[in-house]
Amino acid sequence: MEFDVVIVGAGPAGLSAAIRLKQLAGQAGREIEVCVVEKGSEVGAHILSGAVIEPRALAELFPDWQARGAPLNTAARADRFLFLTATGAVKLPTPPQMHNEGNYIISLGNLCRWLGEQAEKMGVNVFPGFPAAEVLYRDDGSVKGVATRDMGIGRNGEPKAGFEPGVELHARQTLFAEGCRGSLTKTLFERFDLCRDADPQTFGIGLKELWEVSPQVHEEGLIVHTIGWPMPADTYGGSFLYHLEGNQVAVGFVVGLDYSNPHLSPYEEFQRFKTHPRIRPTFEGARRVAYGSRALNEGGFQSIPKLSFPGGMLVGCAAGFLNVPKIKGIHTAMKSAMTAAEAVFDALAAPEQGQEVTDYPERLKQTWLWDELYRARNIRPAFHKGLWTGIAYSGLDTYLLRGKAPWTFHHKPDHTQLKKASDCPRIDYPRPDGVISFDRNSSVYLSATNHEEDQPIHLVLRDPAVAIKVNLADYDAPEQRYCPAGVYEIVRAEDGSDPRLQINAQNCVHCKTCDIKDPTQNINWVTPEGGGGPNYPNM
Ligand SMILES: Cc1cc2nc3c(=O)[nH]c(=O)nc-3n(C[C@H](O)[C@H](O)[C@H](O)COP(=O)(O)OP(=O)(O)OC[C@H]3O[C@@H](n4cnc5c(N)ncnc54)[C@H](O)[C@@H]3O)c2cc1C
Ligand code: SF4
Repeated sequence: MEFDVVIVGAGPAGLSAAIRLKQLAGQAGREIEVCVVEKGSEVGAHILSGAVIEPRALAELFPDWQARGAPLNTAARADRFLFLTATGAVKLPTPPQMHNEGNYIISLGNLCRWLGEQAEKMGVNVFPGFPAAEVLYRDDGSVKGVATRDMGIGRNGEPKAGFEPGVELHARQTLFAEGCRGSLTKTLFERFDLCRDADPQTFGIGLKELWEVSPQVHEEGLIVHTIGWPMPADTYGGSFLYHLEGNQVAVGFVVGLDYSNPHLSPYEEFQRFKTHPRIRPTFEGARRVAYGSRALNEGGFQSIPKLSFPGGMLVGCAAGFLNVPKIKGIHTAMKSAMTAAEAVFDALAAPEQGQEVTDYPERLKQTWLWDELYRARNIRPAFHKGLWTGIAYSGLDTYLLRGKAPWTFHHKPDHTQLKKASDCPRIDYPRPDGVISFDRNSSVYLSATNHEEDQPIHLVLRDPAVAIKVNLADYDAPEQRYCPAGVYEIVRAEDGSDPRLQINAQNCVHCKTCDIKDPTQNINWVTPEGGGGPNYPNM
């Protein structure tokens, strides 16, 4: 199938790019064919965010977003920032980056559903249930488009009854909007050496639940962030509680994936966080309605790769535009994608195929996005030296230096940060009580995750022996703990001998943490069959 522009991923970035292209074509009276492929069963099914949105980019895309009925229903009313000890809480001044006046608490899944509808009304072809599995190249080496995953291949790699081959989507420009740790984006990094002049990207894992709470404890528009307990001071992490409309509370926990103790389990940290005496009352007598997890970028400005290459470009969190001190990447994902769309639209006027639109990064440097990320660049890396150094430096950087320090701190890759299991203390996590805290299986059930079981495993071990020889021997198989869906299990014979790694791929919620944190980078996350994965309602 031939298009002018193919976009991989129907998140805020991909959909904003598609809409901006159609707006520009409408204004210029030109016809352009735009297609968006999405691996989720529907737009929004794989979207997980906090989320408090800064509506700046949305207002640039649709100045009349309110009249059009964009689902921004809960205005931010109050910010609270707490430092937790094991038994108490100290109220801290809210850092300026975390002031949310003028922002909205939303479900990003619902915003994407709405953006998808706007895009379709403008004539964009949106194809949910179609994971882009392979980048296609022209003879001159430029990106020619993508191929979607074959349907109906059995676990043994052989076609089954009902086999349908993937479709080739060709385009003059392909925009990769896969979000954090994109599986195709990763291959482009290598092919075009895009990270050559950048720091390594670093990440966090975000875990989130949605609760229906009692009206007595619900304060619509309240935004609470915590740092401190249960994270040790050398581990970056914290929580969010956002009070949405309809007595709903979105609660989440983020752990920096540069943590060093392989015994740490981000999932269990999140579960025990909810049992803190200052947090627990929100969830007493309440009902948990959804669960999910997704990695997020934490590298910031210094980790932004080269953004354009022959035939395509990177937009949104695929490139890593999240503002870490704000914990916000929706407005920056949208802005980068809109800027890319504007550059692509002008480039399409020329007849060549597969050119490199170098104008995109140049334009981006002129936007508020570039300045915003530049000023925030030193805050997250300051926490590499621990919580107290991080807080002290953040204050200095924000109030005195105002982000204009003449230095830039750097990052190391997250997968290199694990210490040997024998050098680290074991962590004794409390058993879930089934009321406030839960086990992984019941959580995965709430994510409505589903994969066709008879298909090749989409978590590919480059060398299966490494799972036991290195991961188990040196790190006590940390994938058993960092995977928020219980995909990885060490199973043994009855007498405890013969350990082997069992991969329950059908539980995978597509968070990408294993692809990031595996200490030897032995796990390669590839797209499963279309529509497989979580089915998030309004995450
Ligand atoms: C726990 C958590 C809390 C957050 N809180 C906030 C917040 O409060 N405010 C804020 O502004 N930001 C927040 N963020 C960040 C924000 O969610 C991201 O910055 C934003 O979603 C990035 O948008 P994107 O379009 O680049 O990527 P995504 O939103 O990740 O969308 C990518 C889309 O592409 C699809 N896709 C990926 N690969 C393929 C493929 N190969 N083929 C087809 N489809 C594919 C995915 O299924 C997905 O639908 C948070 C993130 C997390 C994880
Ligand atoms: S298998 Fe990997 S991508 Fe899937 S849920 Fe577990 S850690 Fe996340």
